[in-house]
Amino acid sequence: MKLQFLGTGGGRFATISQKRMTGGFRIDEIDGKNIHVDPGPGALVRSHQFGLNPRKINMLLVSHCHTDHYNDAEVLIEAMTQGMTKRTGHVIASDSVINGAGELGPSISKYHQSKPEISVLKPGDVIKEKNISIRGTKTNHGDPTCVGFNINYKGFNINYTADTEYFPELAEEHAGADILIGCVIKEGERRIKGHLRTLDFEELVNEVQPQIAIMTHLGVNLIMNNPFKNTRLITKNTGVRTIAATDGLTMNLDQFM
Ligand SMILES: [Zn+2]
Ligand SMILES: [Zn+2]
Repeated sequence: MKLQFLGTGGGRFATISQKRMTGGFRIDEIDGKNIHVDPGPGALVRSHQFGLNPRKINMLLVSHCHTDHYNDAEVLIEAMTQGMTKRTGHVIASDSVINGAGELGPSISKYHQSKPEISVLKPGDVIKEKNISIRGTKTNHGDPTCVGFNINYKGFNINYTADTEYFPELAEEHAGADILIGCVIKEGERRIKGHLRTLDFEELVNEVQPQIAIMTHLGVNLIMNNPFKNTRLITKNTGVRTIAATDGLTMNLDQFM
């Protein structure tokens, strides 16, 4: 099983400037399947750039209806369905992405929803496909339907916070995570509504105690300062190996199973 980051930037300004790429990440060879999570702008191009075939995606997970998370969803659905010629693949996404919520979305057209299997995922919902189960986790974010993911394969847990601010039950949502991937937008004391700071991530990592914690979705201020300085500190303070993902970073997950 392999985890690869096709982007590690997040938020409006990191996305617009492409200080870091914004293609989301892939989990490959999990129960024979490939999963693309949060295909932001560039997901298609970065797939090819890093040698991944977008036609080999089996599941597309989209946490919410902000462009840095959904932008390339439709074109990846075209890839997944072999140019919309086959009924194949499974899209699992927030209500806003599939149906729209207030001013947001829907971000996948009816046409693109016509070939793959479509599931709306809400926090607490569990969707099973053979040996993989995907559970929605709670968030507190600008898109009220935003959902994080717990991807469980035979008891091995990959958790993704999606965009959320810190709240006390967040650790419960991600309890048991082996790999904890957090969307962390900034460092420093000042809070930012709807997002995690490095301080919040430290708290979460400390409570969850995963085998490894990975920061992604880094905002401009964090990118321009030193994300690695932050992860060194989190590692020291929590005892959990914590890294800041870089564009293209590939990890063999078998070592953690
Ligand atoms: Zn975001
Ligand atoms: Zn967002």
